[in-house]
Amino acid sequence: MPTFSFEFFPPKSAKGERTLWRAIRRVEPFAPDFVSVTYGAGGSSRDRTIDVTKRLAAETTLRPVAHLTAVGHSVTELRRIIGQYVDAGVRDVLVLRGDPPGDPQGPWSAHPDGFTHAYQLVELVRSLGEFSVGVAAFPERHPRSADWDSDIRHFVAKCRAGADYAITQMFFDVEDYLRLRDRVAAAGCDTPIIPEIMPATDVRQIGRFAELSGAAFPEGLAHRLEAARDDPGEGRRVGVDHATAMAERLLAEGAPGLHYITLNRSTAALDIHRNVLNPSRSLHVR
Ligand code: FAD
Repeated sequence: MPTFSFEFFPPKSAKGERTLWRAIRRVEPFAPDFVSVTYGAGGSSRDRTIDVTKRLAAETTLRPVAHLTAVGHSVTELRRIIGQYVDAGVRDVLVLRGDPPGDPQGPWSAHPDGFTHAYQLVELVRSLGEFSVGVAAFPERHPRSADWDSDIRHFVAKCRAGADYAITQMFFDVEDYLRLRDRVAAAGCDTPIIPEIMPATDVRQIGRFAELSGAAFPEGLAHRLEAARDDPGEGRRVGVDHATAMAERLLAEGAPGLHYITLNRSTAALDIHRNVLNPSRSLHVR
């Protein structure tokens, strides 16, 4: 059975907090395999990730997965954070290297007593006891990788360091996922790679997606979203339609699950999920 899961981010305000918890409560009855909470570049947003994750564990029926990055942390601090999760009963961690704060494309510099790559954090988490560990995968290869060979080699090494599964960066062309999966399999690695599903429902999001992920955006979808620029209902229909078709194809191709980005508003993600559960009722992209 493929897994399905939802991703949230820590809110910045009391209003954001209410929006987040409304979305969480809407997702809860669907009994997803897990929900994950992203980890910010620094400061108070990191404490909020820890708070939301702990609250998910304490007050909901959901299984929270805590994203954790190496950015700006010494190994001692990373141990302490992992210890806090253990105390809260959270033993699921999505381990990431992270990007430099401020400019994600800027030069990476490790904390002097920290890590340079995600595989080292995977090893640390593994050394601290029984955890389920996820890592990141990149269907269009990691933007800092010089070529596919090194990208796959480092990904496989990260899996062998102790990852149970990977979740991809957002992407909009199923072929990119399939090529990545085939390359990883050809390198002798069978770590399940769960595709991330991002509902693109507003043409104004496209620039931000590129900034965050570098993911190529299909021209046809961009045109349809442009045509729906001033019609949010139509924009949502276009985005949900495209993402549903992607999700159905990914599952038909044997993807081990679907990880939905919610942007803390579960509506589009749940629309896609309902379509996937009831294929006869789903819309289809041209
Ligand atoms: P790594 O695996 O360390 O890879 C980074 C680069 O280094 C790659 O080019 C890789 O090929 C290369 N590399 C790896 N090992 C070696 C080695 N031994 N020698 C030389 N080169 C090597 N960021 C956040 O800040 N917070 C989040 O919550 C967050 N959540 C994410 C969730 C998902 C599903 C994904 C896909 C990404 C997420 N990110 C998040 C973004 C992520 O932190 C960045 O994309 C980051 O640039 C890469 O992280 P990584 O864990 O893949 O790093």
